[in-house]
Amino acid sequence: MIVILQSNVTEEQIDHVLRRIEALGLQHHLSRGTFRTIVGIIGDEEKLQAEPLHAIPGVAQVIPVLPPYKLASLEAHPEPSIVDVSGVKIGNGHLGMIAGPCSVEDRDRMFRIAESVCESGANLFRGGAYKPRTSPYAFQGLGETGLKLLREVGDKFNMPVVTEVTDPRLVELVAEHADMLQVGARNMQNFALLTEVGKSQRPVLLKRGMSATITDLLMCAEYILSQGNMNVVLCERGVKGFDSATRNLFDVAAVPLIHNLSHLPVIVDPSHATGRPDLIPACALAGLAAGADGVHIEVHDCPEEAKSDGPQALLPDQYRQLADQMKELVKLFGKTVSPLPEKMG
Ligand code: PEP
Ligand code: MN
Repeated sequence: MIVILQSNVTEEQIDHVLRRIEALGLQHHLSRGTFRTIVGIIGDEEKLQAEPLHAIPGVAQVIPVLPPYKLASLEAHPEPSIVDVSGVKIGNGHLGMIAGPCSVEDRDRMFRIAESVCESGANLFRGGAYKPRTSPYAFQGLGETGLKLLREVGDKFNMPVVTEVTDPRLVELVAEHADMLQVGARNMQNFALLTEVGKSQRPVLLKRGMSATITDLLMCAEYILSQGNMNVVLCERGVKGFDSATRNLFDVAAVPLIHNLSHLPVIVDPSHATGRPDLIPACALAGLAAGADGVHIEVHDCPEEAKSDGPQALLPDQYRQLADQMKELVKLFGKTVSPLPEKMG
């Protein structure tokens, strides 16, 4: 931690700052410049909080040397992590291809869509049983019935399944049926939910909030990691932009930026990022070119009948075509699509 003192700091104030540092059992290094005096603090940064230091009279600025997300940072873990979702690996050369409808819907349709995305090479099946909707009157998801159906579909095709959990009280139930727990953009900073998914040992797909900075996202991942659950995959799904031409603004730079800061795998979700099927293929490929460890895409066989997010769904054939292109592209980077597990159970 580096403390920059105000230009008009008094000797008494400097003394006071040094005494506070000593009281914490830390060492200090005072450096008097022509215009500014700075204090370097040597020792365990964990004993320090930037905020109280900032409140000491005479202190202008406090600059932490290490990022506040210790467990998520590359310093803590210099090698890229691999998250294992019931046998499907994501990260460090292993590509997660997540596909499926926005919501879990009727049975035949679920089996149809799963069969098709599975044939195209998807290795994780998605579908929301609990839907966070803007309107309380919109379809809220099939709940537990949806979870059971999703599990059945996953078992039939031997594909691990990912589904959103919207409430800390539902974590245990969702974890019973799903291989991976999704924390959606609207719940990224639901700290009670993050703590609960952290206690569960299920892998977590943490989506970036629509107004969240990368630091915010990594701090939310830290909540999960700090509970002992190290299986976290981050997802860039677009942030609020000023132009309603796309549903959100796809922040493709987030992918290499997160890789520069964290060991956690990062995937992209061009479906929610753009909200437009005509833009999804280009953005999916752009995400992979930027180094994404996976792609999350909504697929529906009859978008006009979809219970949610129909307008942004790719048709199964469109997904098949894109999946072929994605598989070709990642060969360039020496990455492979993690195969389906031999047998799930
Ligand atoms: C979803 O995956 O269907 C979803 C609601 O995503 P997000 O939280 O990114 O909006
Ligand atoms: Mn959706």
